Amino acid sequence: MLWKDVCEIYNKIENTTKRLEKRDYFIKLIDKVKHSGKPKDLKKICYLTIGRVFPEYDERELGIGSKLLIGAIVSTGIKEKELLEKIKETGDIGLAIEKLKSSIKQVSLFTKPLEVDEVYETLRKVAEIEGEQSQKKKLRHISSLFLRASPIESRYLARVILEDMRIGMNIPTIIEALSLYFNVPKEKLERIYAVTNDIGLLAEKLMEEDLDSEELKLRVFRPIKPMLAQLVPSIKDAINEMKMPQFETKYDGARVQIHKKDGKVKIYSRRLEDVTNAIPEIREAIEKLEADNFIIEGECVAIDTSTGKPRPFQDILRRFRRKYDIDKMMKEINLRVYLFDVLYYKGREFIDLPLSERRKTLEEILGIENDWRKDREKIERELKSKKIIDISYKLITDDVEEAEEFYKWSLGIGHEGVMIKNLDAIYTPGSRVRTMYKFKPTLENLDVVITKAKRGMGKRKDWFGSYEISVRDEEGNLYSIGHVGTGLTEDDLERLTKMINEIIIEDLGEEVVVEPKIVVEVAYEEIQKSDKYPCGYALRFPRIVRFREDKSVNDINTLDDVKRIYEIQHKAVETV
Ligand code: AMP
Repeated sequence: MLWKDVCEIYNKIENTTKRLEKRDYFIKLIDKVKHSGKPKDLKKICYLTIGRVFPEYDERELGIGSKLLIGAIVSTGIKEKELLEKIKETGDIGLAIEKLKSSIKQVSLFTKPLEVDEVYETLRKVAEIEGEQSQKKKLRHISSLFLRASPIESRYLARVILEDMRIGMNIPTIIEALSLYFNVPKEKLERIYAVTNDIGLLAEKLMEEDLDSEELKLRVFRPIKPMLAQLVPSIKDAINEMKMPQFETKYDGARVQIHKKDGKVKIYSRRLEDVTNAIPEIREAIEKLEADNFIIEGECVAIDTSTGKPRPFQDILRRFRRKYDIDKMMKEINLRVYLFDVLYYKGREFIDLPLSERRKTLEEILGIENDWRKDREKIERELKSKKIIDISYKLITDDVEEAEEFYKWSLGIGHEGVMIKNLDAIYTPGSRVRTMYKFKPTLENLDVVITKAKRGMGKRKDWFGSYEISVRDEEGNLYSIGHVGTGLTEDDLERLTKMINEIIIEDLGEEVVVEPKIVVEVAYEEIQKSDKYPCGYALRFPRIVRFREDKSVNDINTLDDVKRIYEIQHKAVETV
């Protein structure tokens, strides 16, 4: 098939803003390929249409920046100054080269028109060139294409090279076109796509009428798009809908998909990037597992082993992005992965099985079980351990109170909230589903000042264990908005008690009034209207997330902020 024929259809697709028209042009393109005598070109065209040469799960890129591209174009005899001017004028290298080529009479040694095959294979070769003089070699290949390309062919060539086609075609539209042309339900194709992440392969198998191909099944070392969760307004809503769901701690980290076969392990990020080399301790821990030939999923958390709490999300990113000095980084930031799902094990796909069965298999693979109701103390003991892999903490319940306790506990150990999962539900890759909910305090944290402190009881009798927290109005008057006693380690309590002792204004026995000097940042589940506090609002389940030594009472949030958040929150709940 000729590159020119494809470009002409790209041009039509580009010139309409209507999605359905784009889809219909693509259907015409499929038909043209089918009757071109080279039906295999469809695979390549699919990749080129989305500005790629490799499948979407494949991290390899062409790696050609605009500078090298400009160099390649200039080496075909186009003046750099003119090219740069045209780029400035059009804002697009593709259009710039097309315009210049139209105005220049082309001197070409070649008369043979470009084939799709040649364009694709040349670009693939370019992507694979490495080592010495690679830039030069890449440049030579690219200019050989431009030398032969007509103006319109050059436009799309330049854009493919920059991996930005600007024709408004996306995967869902291509899938729809494939579905209509080959008369296969869209849902079936979406499902295969979610498992393969390879639009070219899907198109190829449709053309070959081989949708049952083994290649379209889940495969170790080909990462798949994860299933995503929806927000739910309350725990009660989730229980009403799911009856007896599985609650899990929602860890504050980064999702990982772990593949293992014949002892070899690869770990992919949520965006399907291979992060194996950056996190060798996780790789080793998985290698050590006896089980083999699986795909499992979990959340990777940076753990502060002195407190057992997660470290800021930023620390995970620092680990994931690290390319050198990994050992040093490993000593600085401890990681732990909490596994929560299995998609494939020993040659068998698990995504169509209910969560209850997947969880059982996951426990078998890891050799770990967990039930928050009976294992809570053990879990708490292990928080500060050096444990590298664990299974997610779970609680199966239809009791709202018990679930809320688990939620608060999850926040208390420093995580984000809870996931609420339907035990009968299958795993649907790449979609946001109503069978898995997330529930977390999504609202912005508040900076508040401590105005009173209450002496603790039992284990906390030597400390102040609970604190009245307040916001201010425009004039600086303080209004209490809640009491907070969670989110603090023993060290924190010790430190706070010392600070409080120095600023007591009045001792009321059980309680002391203090100068408003200690500013803390609190997270909470929601802001409620309340008669209990004179300001009319109260924070539900507040917890201290950090001391704000950098702030004074003048910097804390105001009553107006509280009102604003209350309103946003109510709007948000209505629209969920
Ligand atoms: P969000 O990123 O807010 O859409 O929430 C969904 C994400 O929570 C998932 O993609 C996971 O990375 C993460 N997560 C943390 N803990 C769990 C868990 N126990 N089960 C499933 N996902 C979890």
